[in-house]
Amino acid sequence: MLNLSLRQLAALLAEGKTSSVELCQDYLERIERLNPGLNAFITVDRARTLAEARAADQRRAQGDAGPLTGVPIAHKDIFCAEGWPTTCGSRMLANFVAPYDAHVIERCKAAGMPTLGKTNMDEFAMGSSNETSFFGPVKNPWDERAVPGGSSGGSAAAVAARMAPAATGTDTGGSIRQPAALCGITGLKPTYGLVSRYGMIAFASSLDQGGPMAASAEDCALLMNVLAGFDARDSTSLERPVEDYTRELDRPLSGLKIGLPQEYFGAGLAADAGRAVDAAIAEYRRLGAETVDISLPNSRLSVPVYYVLAPAEASSNLARYDGVRYGYRAPQYTDLTDMYERTRAEGLGDEVKRRIMIGTYVLSHGYYDAYYLQAQKLRRLIARDFAEAFRQCDVIMGPTAPTTAFDLGAKRADPVEMYLSDIYTIAVNLAGLPALSIPCGFGRDGRPVGLQLIGDYFSEARLLNIAHQYQQATDWHTMTPRGLE
Ligand code: GLN
Repeated sequence: MLNLSLRQLAALLAEGKTSSVELCQDYLERIERLNPGLNAFITVDRARTLAEARAADQRRAQGDAGPLTGVPIAHKDIFCAEGWPTTCGSRMLANFVAPYDAHVIERCKAAGMPTLGKTNMDEFAMGSSNETSFFGPVKNPWDERAVPGGSSGGSAAAVAARMAPAATGTDTGGSIRQPAALCGITGLKPTYGLVSRYGMIAFASSLDQGGPMAASAEDCALLMNVLAGFDARDSTSLERPVEDYTRELDRPLSGLKIGLPQEYFGAGLAADAGRAVDAAIAEYRRLGAETVDISLPNSRLSVPVYYVLAPAEASSNLARYDGVRYGYRAPQYTDLTDMYERTRAEGLGDEVKRRIMIGTYVLSHGYYDAYYLQAQKLRRLIARDFAEAFRQCDVIMGPTAPTTAFDLGAKRADPVEMYLSDIYTIAVNLAGLPALSIPCGFGRDGRPVGLQLIGDYFSEARLLNIAHQYQQATDWHTMTPRGLE
């Protein structure tokens, strides 16, 4: 049962062969057994999950079920969920119980999907390895010595270990795609503005975007039907007609033009990851696609641009954690300023403080033009590269990450080394484009490799189709880590 797709789980529920309560009990049992080793969940609340499952079963009994009613889902602990602790991986919010639901949570509840728990993540979504979490690192289910990627590493590990059939994630610079790649699952970062950021704790608002993580592209398509939609409470939410993201899944790939950016296959790409990606592209040619060489000349600037803009926005967004209204407050202080200082010194971790300092610096008088404004201009050039590329091809393909999952601790000492693990994902956020990662093989170390598919704005249905056709012809997405049966 644990290896079934969302469509299969939904069919079992529809045929009355299982109930949501039974399904949730199975997953909760597995979480109880595997989570102490993997640390993918920060919060599990059996009673709450089962109450939601009973409600879903009731809805079905009353003939009021949607396509995924009763199918459970895990949520990244960045989404406010009423009555659940919502920590964002930080000591600052370790005691915070959300008083309302994020838009994404509302949508899942409206669809009748019970919450299996809140998943671990890098603190305030800042990281690529899950090691910045106040709640300790997540282990990669394929190899417990390895990181699961980040920042949605808990969600990726939960799905990879089949502790949940699906999960939500957020992606500011790669945090859905990179952990999906490192854990051998499928993850989609939608076009900026498709999934509301209301109730999603802000990191860098012009880049943050929520999205689905699951075993397959088909599962992600079903989840997108739940997650996407206009929300007036997010000023950047897009008002567009409702789409069915599964509508193109069966379209054949003949005539598809795949762009291969030379910059994504250069010196930084590990040989074994490169081989798996090449083999996947060869499979696409067999499926009827053609490839064209393209260039994204400004992509080398994406990491430096991101590490000016994201910290700038973060320094502003995180100013709200001051110990006054909610979250952590230092137990001892002399006056108000001392309270702010101690609260932030004690409540925030090193990586978060580093970003706040960089962000404050690049926004300060005298440096604003040199750093922040300059980065905004380069952001435009990076977006233009993609626009140019999409005149020559329908989809861009390449590796999601330069290597397979690295060992825990391997990059902790050098932040820049860590930042470079997002070298292939960050430009997509700067441009606001949709992109997805699908499993396409394994490296020499037996750890998964991800293939990244980047599409033009609002091409999610097509991207999911292109991924689904590959998954019909291959079985990487069905593989599960050994020893976790
Ligand atoms: N790893 C990148 C960072 O640390 C991206 C994180 C994200 O997408 N949330 O900022």
